[in-house]
Amino acid sequence: MPIHILSPEVANQIAAGEVVERPASAVKELIENSLDAGATDVRVEVREGGRRLLRVQDDGCGIPAAEVALAFERHATSKIVTAADLDHITTLGFRGEALASIAAVAQVTLLTRARDEEAGALIRLAEGREVTREPAGGPPGTIVTVEHLFANVPARLKFLKQPATEASHIQQIVTRYALAYPERRFNLVSDGKLVFQSTGSGKLYDVLVKVYGLEMAREMLPMKTKDEGRKTEDDRSSSLVLGLSSIGVTGYVGSPSLHRGNRGYITLFVNRRWFQDTSVAYSVIQAYHTMLPVGRYPVAVLFIEMDPADVDVNVHPTKAEVRFRDNHAVFSAVQKAVRRTVADLAPIPKVGLGGDASAATSPAAAWPGVTAFGGPAWSERRDVLLGAGSDDHRLFAAPGLGAEPPASSFQPGPPNPQSAISNPQSSKPLLPLLRVVGQLAATYVVAEGPDGMYLIDQHAAHERILYEQMSSQRAGHTLAVQSLLEPLLLDLSPEQAAVVAEELDTLNELGVGIEPFGGSSYLVRSIPAILSRENPAGALVEIVDGLASQNDVVEGTADAALTTLICKRAAIKGGHPLNMAEMQELVRQLEACRSPRTCPHGRPTMIYLSGDELARQFGRT
Ligand code: ADP
Ligand code: MG
Repeated sequence: MPIHILSPEVANQIAAGEVVERPASAVKELIENSLDAGATDVRVEVREGGRRLLRVQDDGCGIPAAEVALAFERHATSKIVTAADLDHITTLGFRGEALASIAAVAQVTLLTRARDEEAGALIRLAEGREVTREPAGGPPGTIVTVEHLFANVPARLKFLKQPATEASHIQQIVTRYALAYPERRFNLVSDGKLVFQSTGSGKLYDVLVKVYGLEMAREMLPMKTKDEGRKTEDDRSSSLVLGLSSIGVTGYVGSPSLHRGNRGYITLFVNRRWFQDTSVAYSVIQAYHTMLPVGRYPVAVLFIEMDPADVDVNVHPTKAEVRFRDNHAVFSAVQKAVRRTVADLAPIPKVGLGGDASAATSPAAAWPGVTAFGGPAWSERRDVLLGAGSDDHRLFAAPGLGAEPPASSFQPGPPNPQSAISNPQSSKPLLPLLRVVGQLAATYVVAEGPDGMYLIDQHAAHERILYEQMSSQRAGHTLAVQSLLEPLLLDLSPEQAAVVAEELDTLNELGVGIEPFGGSSYLVRSIPAILSRENPAGALVEIVDGLASQNDVVEGTADAALTTLICKRAAIKGGHPLNMAEMQELVRQLEACRSPRTCPHGRPTMIYLSGDELARQFGRT
């Protein structure tokens, strides 16, 4: 056969194969057109899973009567003009392929009226060819009806699943757009039944309730936006270095108690376009590291906002894959944002004695109201048990920590409230009220809670306390610094010196007054006050070494890494005996933390043995 150019019909059918894989893909394209047309109300109707009929009706801008035939030409679009426009796409469509593709594999009827035109138009096509075109009346907007999909493509028809399966794919498409566009109304009718509806209230939570049901939505947390103050600036400046504008991550993530057997509940959008990406999904999963049972996956609906120039959506005809200019920046932004939100709610690991070291549960969820160990009167009982506490909190009133800060304007944390600290987001208590019983191995604080026994790792707990105190002091520009009586000369190895040179500004900002002193020597004039109990030289070298070996994605910025290292060094070690008052003060300060359940590295600060488990072990039940 001699070489020849394929007819437009055949070319369209080939292209259609890529764009319209199944009924849901046609629905996706039509909804995208409606959204691009500025519709506030999108109605989808399907019969027999879309095989017999699918229809998308919108109240968008409509198509001028003179252009309706053109809209079905391949590569006909009103959304971009030049190739340069591909670099900053702000519409969902841009390839000008969808209508042509759908028309190539189905019978299509389009009724439309442009907002500023008096008369509308109706056009009907079959197998890509125009059958009728005539003026027609109707409200502004567009109705596209697709019938007999794939009737002329037996190969595709054969691969279609049961109507119910195809209908569920369509429902998934509609719900995704409803999530991405909560300010627009969506409505899906399948075989005459209303199967999904969103109100267009503009509130993502309302759509979550519609998509996942109230019970599940209740267990989802709004993403925390970036911390105020320094951290934001750091994040911004590091993205400036990369030549990228900032990446925003918003949405909802499931609390760690909500998990599923597969990754299908991680829904991702970039600039309100749904996309698929195993690496980004993996960043979400990583953010739950140690918080979910093995083999379980989190639930998340995430919106990544970034400069359209930094993301390429023109990868595949279905536009379901994207490429980021800086993958790593996206992974890390997602992971940090998710981690920030769920860290507070990491469950306190529950230990079982023999048999099942059962799945971690959150005692806070079952508390208060448990009677086995404490009963409703726990807070009063605890007060009585505590007795007249001594005021000797000397250890935890250490410099930068408590009552006698040297040359600092540090304010001690809020007084121990009558009830447990509650998380402003979920209003569930983060920690139950605890009564210190004693110390174990000079390393663990034994405490009683309303529903069982808690073992607190004194080092991890103190690290968490110091970390939050230091962060809030930094935010308030009240970081406590201790001047050294005599400057300290540090002779560093070349590797250590390189790290110090790299992070000189951050070190200074965190209270380490360090300056180059020729070669790999540095002069230290001050240290963060919380380190004042330490041998300054030893502490600094350890911190510098820690920084050199740091490549933690979660605590990505040098700032956070350094803060963590300083707190790790300053925190009370395991093996250090504590008296009663010191332990009480430690627990009090932990209760005042925003994320009391994990140390800054995400490891648990405490584990929990339930009263029920004890009763079971002693044969009391
Ligand atoms: P693309 O969306 O990539 O531009 P399509 O083939 O999907 O290509 O649509 C072609 C053109 O038809 C669009 O650019 C738009 O101008 C017009 N169009 C399609 N659907 C609608 C709609 N529902 N409302 C208004 N205009 C539409
Ligand atoms: Mg389109």
